Amino acid sequence: MKIFFLRAAAVVSLAGFLFACATVPVTGRRQLSLIPASTMLAMSQEQYGAFLKESRLSTDAKSTAMVQQVGENIQAAVERYFAEQGMARELKNYAWEFNLIESQEVNAWAMPGGKIAVYTGILPVTRDENGLAVVIGHEIGHVVAGHGAERMSHLLAVQMGGMALAAAMANRPEATQQLWYTAFGLGAQVGFVLPYSRLQEHEADRLGLIFMAMAGYDPQHALAFWERLAARKEGQAPPAFLSTHPTDAQRIQRIRDLMPEVQRYYRQ
Ligand SMILES: [Zn+2]
Repeated sequence: MKIFFLRAAAVVSLAGFLFACATVPVTGRRQLSLIPASTMLAMSQEQYGAFLKESRLSTDAKSTAMVQQVGENIQAAVERYFAEQGMARELKNYAWEFNLIESQEVNAWAMPGGKIAVYTGILPVTRDENGLAVVIGHEIGHVVAGHGAERMSHLLAVQMGGMALAAAMANRPEATQQLWYTAFGLGAQVGFVLPYSRLQEHEADRLGLIFMAMAGYDPQHALAFWERLAARKEGQAPPAFLSTHPTDAQRIQRIRDLMPEVQRYYRQ
């Protein structure tokens, strides 16, 4: 399948949209947000449901239970973290789900409201619950940082002249679903991959490491996971997860730099 790379942030002129900003919880960064959270949650519910309908759930009971358990542990940590920050309201309308999808694709992603999908193809790279905690923590990091709305806003600006999400869905449902899949890392599904930016990756790494540490998983495991994933780059096509979450030595070094901060959450 042909995969197109799009550097939306670099090409779009956002002058007209700069008034429409939101703040990333935890990091405080200002971000572009043209889509109300309620719209994102409604669309997430719909698109996650549609995806599950077209997919096969894993019949491996043990791995399914492991994904579920790690997911719930991380969810509890996120809820505790937000409560401690006085931001429990942010999670009010979440409807968490953790599903293991039968697929050779090396991938995992999350949609708004805590809708997580892990593919069986990534299990040889995650290896055990520590590796799964790295992936699920990282994906939930993208969710709570609002990266999906940010990416969807950019894509709508570039592809549909800044049309509102609800209007885009009503007028061009298929194209809008493609943008949605692209925004959330299912690009391989529609042949259109958009890597997360370095900034978004760093935010998701930091949040994910904090969440996994609070859930009782040693964040040190993140280093080994990203190194194993990067090693998969050799040979044929890179794993889908690596196409949307690009990694290099610099990223791994930045994770190493975060260790003193995130280890504090692990030892508490
Ligand atoms: Zn990422």
